[in-house]
Amino acid sequence: MRRFLDFNTFFTNKFKAKVAKLSLNSGASCPNRDGTLSKGGCIFCSERGSGDFTSDYKDIDKQIYEQKNLLSKKWKAKYYIAYFQSFTNTYGDINKLRDLYNYVVSKEDIVGLSLATRADCLDDKVMEMLLELNKKTFLFLELGMQSVNENTIKFINRGYSHETFDENIKILKKNKIKFLTHLIFGLPCEDKGDILKSVNYIKDIHPFGVKFHCLYIQTDSPLYAYYKNKPFRLLSKDEYVNLVCDAIEILPKDIVIHRLTGDADKKKLIAPLWAADKLSVISSIDKELKNRGLDLVV
Ligand code: SF4
Repeated sequence: MRRFLDFNTFFTNKFKAKVAKLSLNSGASCPNRDGTLSKGGCIFCSERGSGDFTSDYKDIDKQIYEQKNLLSKKWKAKYYIAYFQSFTNTYGDINKLRDLYNYVVSKEDIVGLSLATRADCLDDKVMEMLLELNKKTFLFLELGMQSVNENTIKFINRGYSHETFDENIKILKKNKIKFLTHLIFGLPCEDKGDILKSVNYIKDIHPFGVKFHCLYIQTDSPLYAYYKNKPFRLLSKDEYVNLVCDAIEILPKDIVIHRLTGDADKKKLIAPLWAADKLSVISSIDKELKNRGLDLVV
């Protein structure tokens, strides 16, 4: 039986203890939101810069304290990954960000740092910072690739080409900076062939990890206005489950699967409504993997 790595298994094996993520906010903006590239941002981007469950921006010690308190109700973690999820965490005042990240990783129980960013926001100064952090902690970037198809990239208003993505991840690989890629299934301009083209690209570049998302419509994203004017068909739960299982079958088994489905904000979710029940989606994926003779390591 083939087996696959999930976040918990990978980090528990690596640090021999439970590791949890602290969702923190660096206060960074995004060039695709502040008018540098566009003001609207990626078409699915929410008010909080695609970080709907991150802390409010305030004193970092306070954020850490509050996140640990919140997590302690669910898990008893020994170690933490500092996860800067919303907006573009390698954009803006790099000296300030460098100080912030160095401060966070100096804490004894914070064993890793995860920075959500864009592949076009990795200039020399940023790379210098990443190389420095990479020596100090378990660093990995999260890159919102979503698709390799140029028509889709234009539709989602990502703001840079696949060529740029490809060039810059080669620099990350050369410098041994780990990254994971986000993929969205169900974009209106994509069929199964387009989706699997993106999955096969991930197979070839072999990142540290991957996150799968289904496309959903929230009231606070530009996609909502588009959907109201031009409604399109969204994936059914079964279709999504099957696509995720197809992707897992294609990808090398040492790629860490950090997420099997996205975290829709239930209060803002318009469609598909099944996306609100994350546990049911995960359980259907587990069931389908078992049907196919593939199992997640849990
Ligand atoms: S790169 Fe991220 S923060 Fe910026 S617009 Fe796109 S989804 Fe939003």
